[in-house]
Amino acid sequence: EAKESGRNAVRFFDPVMQHSVSERASLEADLHRAVPDQQLQLYYQIQVDSNQRSLGAEALLRWIHPTRGMVSPAQFIPLAEESILILELGDWVLDAACRQLAIWSEADLMRHLTLAVNVSGKQFKQRDFVEKVARILQVHQVDASRLKLELTESVVLNDVTDVISKMQALKALRVRLSMDDFGTGYSSLSYLKQLPLDQIKIDQSFVRDMTFDQNDAVMVQTIIDMAKNFGLNVIAEGVETEAQKLLLEQLGCLNYQGYLFSKPLPIAQFEALLKESVL
Ligand code: C2E
Ligand code: MG
Ligand code: MG
Ligand code: MG
Repeated sequence: EAKESGRNAVRFFDPVMQHSVSERASLEADLHRAVPDQQLQLYYQIQVDSNQRSLGAEALLRWIHPTRGMVSPAQFIPLAEESILILELGDWVLDAACRQLAIWSEADLMRHLTLAVNVSGKQFKQRDFVEKVARILQVHQVDASRLKLELTESVVLNDVTDVISKMQALKALRVRLSMDDFGTGYSSLSYLKQLPLDQIKIDQSFVRDMTFDQNDAVMVQTIIDMAKNFGLNVIAEGVETEAQKLLLEQLGCLNYQGYLFSKPLPIAQFEALLKESVL
């Protein structure tokens, strides 16, 4: 965490505070105001191929607290997940992301690019989750194939039959599905092959260490080979150095996201980046 906030231009409030009980309670109370008081923002991080051409972006939630400043999602998402607050935040994120996709299609920006949105377990478990997604796409008149939902292995671990049927329904809408933080959870190979996924995202912990830890390099190689054998696209997250990008490329992973290309940016800066010819 310290490493991450140190590298980001925007400073998150002191992470040491996160263990204090009263601190958590106060944050949680404040979090109830986030949606009604319009304290949430989406940041966008570009995803590129091996020629630095843009493939899309991931939307990452930011909470601009009235007195603390920016609070990291690593701190408030787990808090929100303890209650139904996560559903309100999740709805807000989906709506904001689809509204942005609609604006981009109007402006002919991001024309063929996808926007990835993180979905939490509780959110995905809602009985009407698929209908909700369909409704938001409809309201904003967005081409469903430009929306990508990032799920984690913990989501899938729940009720596999229900998860698969929801995923199939989302695929029928033409929404894309990506498995986030792959390799850190417990999903077994046997049901990975049953999931109608489009993409696997190699977790940044493997990417971070792969250039000096042989075990991480083996993990990365295994994930890439497996993704290919299942016919899935594979993207690496947390790519920070040329050496990491090069090794990933050698191992057969041609899609990347990370500080090497850009950190997550507020909308205006992200759009400026998109308009640069290099990406
Ligand atoms: P994630 O979905 O795995 O997102 C990747 C995280 O890695 C982001 O942290 C991003 O800023 C960071 N990152 C990107 N490139 C690099 C890099 O090169 N090096 C390093 N060290 N870090 C990099 P962020 O934005 O703090 O988000 C943390 C987590 O919070 C996300 O992990 C995701 O699990 C969760 N999250 C963020 N937005 C949402 C949301 O809208 N809904 C839900 N349910 N969860 C969200
Ligand atoms: Mg993600
Ligand atoms: Mg991730
Ligand atoms: Mg993560």
